Amino acid sequence: MSNYDPVEVTPLHADEVARMLTEALEAVAAARDLDALKQARLAHAGDRSPIALANREIGALPPAARAEAGKRVGGARKAIAEALSARQAELEAQRDARVLIEEAVDVTLPWDRRPAGARHPLTTLQERIADAFVAMGYEVAEGPELEGEWFNFDALNIAPDHPARSEHDTFFVGSRDSGMVLRTQTSPVQVRAMLSRPLPCYVISPGKVFRTDELDATHTPVFHQVEGLAVDKGLTMAHLKGTLDAFAASMFGEGITTRFRPNYFPFTEPSAEMDLRCFVCRGASAVPGNPPCRTCKSEGWIEWGGCGMINPRVLVSCGIDPREYSGFAFGMGIERTLMFRHNAEDMRDMVEGDVRFTLPFGMEV
Ligand SMILES: [Zn+2]
Repeated sequence: MSNYDPVEVTPLHADEVARMLTEALEAVAAARDLDALKQARLAHAGDRSPIALANREIGALPPAARAEAGKRVGGARKAIAEALSARQAELEAQRDARVLIEEAVDVTLPWDRRPAGARHPLTTLQERIADAFVAMGYEVAEGPELEGEWFNFDALNIAPDHPARSEHDTFFVGSRDSGMVLRTQTSPVQVRAMLSRPLPCYVISPGKVFRTDELDATHTPVFHQVEGLAVDKGLTMAHLKGTLDAFAASMFGEGITTRFRPNYFPFTEPSAEMDLRCFVCRGASAVPGNPPCRTCKSEGWIEWGGCGMINPRVLVSCGIDPREYSGFAFGMGIERTLMFRHNAEDMRDMVEGDVRFTLPFGMEV
């Protein structure tokens, strides 16, 4: 160290340090934006910059030479740092001013963009149901909403004096004896399907039906049903049960099954009310000691619809020989299904068209 010659330490020469400083200040001044300034900072003030490397050389100088070299290099570094922070402030101010202009919103402009809508959940649910059955080989059938009385009642084993006819609270079109009604059920579509399709026949018919009910939380004069019909050789109630279990699982999740309770419908024999295993508690709430369930009122089951084996008289009405063919049919309300699936509690929400109800169901295509 004693024979160390500071002259040899080129980076510490006064003119060398001055050159580094000039280059650094030029680079800082030339930076057009914050990214460029970052590059300049790295190149001229970073750990690998010439001035930082020069600074490291100071320690190698003889003590007598250190003070002067330290002062020179320190002064240059301070000047670079100050230039960098001044330029940084300048560029940030420019950026902020630009953002204010570019992202300005003119609140006085007329708002003419239409908000994105959503399809009605009854429509999308109806399509989901159709998908589930199409996957099982069913066809989707449609029929007229203005229907002949014969299709709506007579062909379904509901004779003119049958009490079920008055229970249906029918909208007659024109006079009482016009023979035309707004269909009270989607079952006439099944009659039309049996009359027009070759056998075997597997159809579902989702659609609007009409009854003279007042609109309240649980009733509406216009609502939706989906009915299913299968006519084939050798069909039994086991096929019906299996079909409904598969449907229940596709609507409410794997493992959700159905249960039959004996009932009476004119067009099926035997007939059953169909319950759905509660998809929230899965029946657990019915066991004493378990927490209660709001969805099924702790019964473990929810009433979902009706079903049964097609009454041979209905088959005969449609020109089908009941000794050769048998069939099953089932039906449920789509509003009711929507209420279960989404905890929609008031049926009026489904008919009033308020987007605050429909939007949360999202855009389902
Ligand atoms: Zn439950």
